[in-house]
Amino acid sequence: MEEKFPEAYADFVKVCDLLEKHYHDMQDMEFTVENGKLYMLQCRNGKRTAQAALKIACDLVDEGMKTEQEAVLMIDPRNLDTLLHPQFDAKALKAATPLGKGLGASPGAACGKVVFTADDAEAWNNRGEKVVLVRLETSPEDITGMKAAQGILTVRGGMTSHAAVVARGMGSCCVSGCGDIKMDEENKKFELAGETFHEGDFISIDGTTGNIYKGIIPTVDAQIAGEFGRVMAWADKYRKLKVRTNADTPRDAKKARELGAEGIGLCRTEHMFFDPDRIGAFREMICSETVEEREAALAKILPMQQADFEALYEALEGTPVCIRFLDPPLHEFVPTDEADIAALAAAQGKTVEYIKQVIADLHEFNPMMGHRGCRLAVTYPEIAKMQTAAVIRAAINVNKAHPDWHIVPEIMIPLVGEVKELKYVKSFVVATADEEIAAAGADLKYEVGTMIEIPRAALTADEIAKEADFFCFGTNDLTQMTYGFSRDDAGKFLNAYYDAKIFENDPFAKLDQVGVGALMKMAIKLGKAENPKLHLGICGEHGGDPTSVEFCHSIGLDYVSCSPFRVPIARLAAAQAAIKEG
Ligand code: PEP
Ligand code: MG
Repeated sequence: MEEKFPEAYADFVKVCDLLEKHYHDMQDMEFTVENGKLYMLQCRNGKRTAQAALKIACDLVDEGMKTEQEAVLMIDPRNLDTLLHPQFDAKALKAATPLGKGLGASPGAACGKVVFTADDAEAWNNRGEKVVLVRLETSPEDITGMKAAQGILTVRGGMTSHAAVVARGMGSCCVSGCGDIKMDEENKKFELAGETFHEGDFISIDGTTGNIYKGIIPTVDAQIAGEFGRVMAWADKYRKLKVRTNADTPRDAKKARELGAEGIGLCRTEHMFFDPDRIGAFREMICSETVEEREAALAKILPMQQADFEALYEALEGTPVCIRFLDPPLHEFVPTDEADIAALAAAQGKTVEYIKQVIADLHEFNPMMGHRGCRLAVTYPEIAKMQTAAVIRAAINVNKAHPDWHIVPEIMIPLVGEVKELKYVKSFVVATADEEIAAAGADLKYEVGTMIEIPRAALTADEIAKEADFFCFGTNDLTQMTYGFSRDDAGKFLNAYYDAKIFENDPFAKLDQVGVGALMKMAIKLGKAENPKLHLGICGEHGGDPTSVEFCHSIGLDYVSCSPFRVPIARLAAAQAAIKEG
């Protein structure tokens, strides 16, 4: 243009500069040149990828066109998701040429050996192989294989195909709808661009661009560096809410730390009991007939649980860790197949019939409203005592190893609806903790708090606050119990609710500020009036949803807690809430 229409070009450069300076943003401009004269047709703020949005924000700050706060407000927190998945190593990618292209259906990059069935994906993954699952299309039976695969490639299907939707939900990379693939599922091979791929051949796929490559392109984990790092540093400077993570393995906890988590807001201890080397002891505990038997089984678990907590404290580097005591109904832990039942009976010296009877007795019509949460601690104080001993011993050991850390364990009692429940459970938690501390000759402070996840807890929060050092809003259960519909079953009818315009969003994903939010505000007001030192957090799924984070800021929570990959999203959303408030 500069060569052909030098005058129009000079005008164009001037106008671009003028428009960008006027709008303080990158512009998408339409223009025409007629008889050598420039005519501007229209302009608007340009669309951009997440990576470009960060670059534009930084450039505008460097050019003095935006303040840091304005730059932070320019980024949609939801778009950060695409930057938080593994990417191809940039150097290796430069040297690679794509063989074909499908739809970039779920972001991230994946490299692995080709497998053709979900079962193979699972089996190969179990023996330590990285795989890419290649299918004509996927169906619900493929879920476990899809989880096991680094990435999913399908021949058929669009952006809302099963593969695409499920992969996005799981955060896995997916390229869908590559119609150029000639698939031969029966013989476990396919052809693309004249190349034949057999089971076990390496393939690399890019779920952002949809590109498909032959062979190995190494992937690297996402990093918060460069412009992403700059914007996140500004966000941290302006936000008031702390951001913790929901994590119960050192691996997740470390990832969350890398992504900026300032502590654990929820460690669901039950996940630790499913480990193959401890589920046996846990089942023995469930099937015990006497307190002594139960204590003997729990004694086997104690050192493992203590080691779990030590590893978490280490991973969190002295930042707060809130450990939630056993919550789910016990039927979730018992064996279902005959061989496992027989093994359990043999291990405990009991009959198969007895074990089957225990399992049958655990049946509940409404398990989510049944024998779970603090009700387990009320009926089996030994469980809470064991968990207390494990927490306290772990904290003492880790504090000893790191004298500058000063870990103050946070013990969280779930599903409290009546202050006397908390008072009762707390009595033996405190007695056990104090005994442990005295026996170790340690000087350790600890806190006992509760989740607010039953409406009655919110309504009686003044009473509950007398016994609690902190409240953490469990908005998954609080939403379930406020609406009175099951978090596990609502999916069956929610679509009809969207169609009928009764709901705009899934209340389990986006906090219902009108109803559930009113209960939260009430609990805060009542709780703080009674106990001004009470600290407040949220650890339901909503803790990683931007509009819910904004609400949490507005009602004065101290922190939000969310899954590791949502930590940067929550950090940015928290900053935006604080900046908007002024
Ligand atoms: C909750 O109810 O919001 C919560 C975090 O606990 P869970 O999801 O484990 O019931
Ligand atoms: Mg809950």
